[in-house]
Amino acid sequence: MSVLQVEKPAWMTEDVEIFADAVGKFCEKELAPHVDSWEKNEIVDRDVWYKAGEAGILCASVPEEYGGAGGSFAHEAMLIDQFGKKGITGFGASLHNAIIAPYIVHYGSEEQKQRWLPKMASGELVGAIAMTEPGTGSDLQNIKTTAKLDGNEYVINGSKTFITNGQQANLIIVVSKTDPSAGAKGTSLVVVETDEVEGFRRGRNLDKIGQKSQDTSELFFDNVRVPTSNLLGTEEGQGFIQLMQQLASERLQIGLQGVAMMEAALEQTVDYVKERKAFGQAVMDFQNTQFKLAEAKTKTTVARVFTDHCTGLLLEGKLDAATASMAKYWVSDMQCEVVDECLQLHGGYGYMNEYPIARMYRDARVQKIYGGTNEIMKVLISRTL
Ligand SMILES: Cc1cc2nc3c(=O)[nH]c(=O)nc-3n(C[C@H](O)[C@H](O)[C@H](O)COP(=O)(O)OP(=O)(O)OC[C@H]3O[C@@H](n4cnc5c(N)ncnc54)[C@H](O)[C@@H]3O)c2cc1C
Repeated sequence: MSVLQVEKPAWMTEDVEIFADAVGKFCEKELAPHVDSWEKNEIVDRDVWYKAGEAGILCASVPEEYGGAGGSFAHEAMLIDQFGKKGITGFGASLHNAIIAPYIVHYGSEEQKQRWLPKMASGELVGAIAMTEPGTGSDLQNIKTTAKLDGNEYVINGSKTFITNGQQANLIIVVSKTDPSAGAKGTSLVVVETDEVEGFRRGRNLDKIGQKSQDTSELFFDNVRVPTSNLLGTEEGQGFIQLMQQLASERLQIGLQGVAMMEAALEQTVDYVKERKAFGQAVMDFQNTQFKLAEAKTKTTVARVFTDHCTGLLLEGKLDAATASMAKYWVSDMQCEVVDECLQLHGGYGYMNEYPIARMYRDARVQKIYGGTNEIMKVLISRTL
């Protein structure tokens, strides 16, 4: 039973609920017990990708003819929800499923889909997308990585940083300049299968303040040659448009993760303050606690209703960039506020890593940064005014 009283959205069909239940069980059995050791190792076990593949958790929204489960974004939304509620922030399956696979489904040729998607569904291929560079994050048009045509190959040179799944990914969508003089119009998405190439190198697995078990990394491309058939889309120069079309979904996904974590933080805190005593009474009995939790519940409810609405829009193909940006920026801001208040209500125990709220606090902060910073979200929203 959720601590929220929100009506089920229309897209939450029985089939989607069954999938959510299966993901929840997978989290409890195969993921949650390992989170502490993965946090120490700063990476999840490679094996878990195969287990997730076997359990049907990977590529649920990919058509069945390409090895997926033939579901929709509703299934991916529920995977993100379950991961958020169960504190799984390191295993990058949602990025793999709901960001990387859709690029191939939407822009891949028949041959690319046949080649990559079944292996992504089984866990043999782990996906990543490399946009950000040491000198360029928000200003994506300014990337320096090049993919130069040489016969029937592209030769890729450049470096990327902060790449989710960076240590484990073996299928990387590299945002590159095929025509460096043409600005955004010279940008293309080129897929690098890292097991097949020379000149590709992984840098540091970066030491972050949160989401510790996620292998967020530097990547280097030094004269990496891939066949021209690894270009996503029918011609060069479509990369920026493809990114803009897909980023709305990525931004909603950050909102979905945020609201799931808010709900979990609220639930755990309600339990905690009912148990914990101070001045001879439960911490819950102080009016300050009740007011803080009332505020947290209100924010979480509004966030839930809005992200449910956005998920419905996305499923209908109607989610625009500005609305997705609202979900990303507002929910992540609220997530940080709610988690901070919930930690405060735990007193000193909230600062101890053995309490899940401490990890939630560390894990929440980056939500305002990645996927486009919240300032960039406001730039996008303000353009519609
Ligand atoms: C844990 C983690 C995982 C990530 N995963 C990936 C990934 O898988 N793939 C990938 O490609 N990238 C990834 N990123 C990178 C992320 O998307 C970028 O960090 C983000 O887009 C910001 O870019 P930047 O770090 O270069 O900041 P900058 O662009 O240097 O921004 C610095 C500050 O300036 C502000 N700013 C910049 N431009 C403007 C403006 N026009 N108006 C107002 N303020 C502005 C920003 O909001 C920010 O506050 C990840 C980052 C992290 C931390």
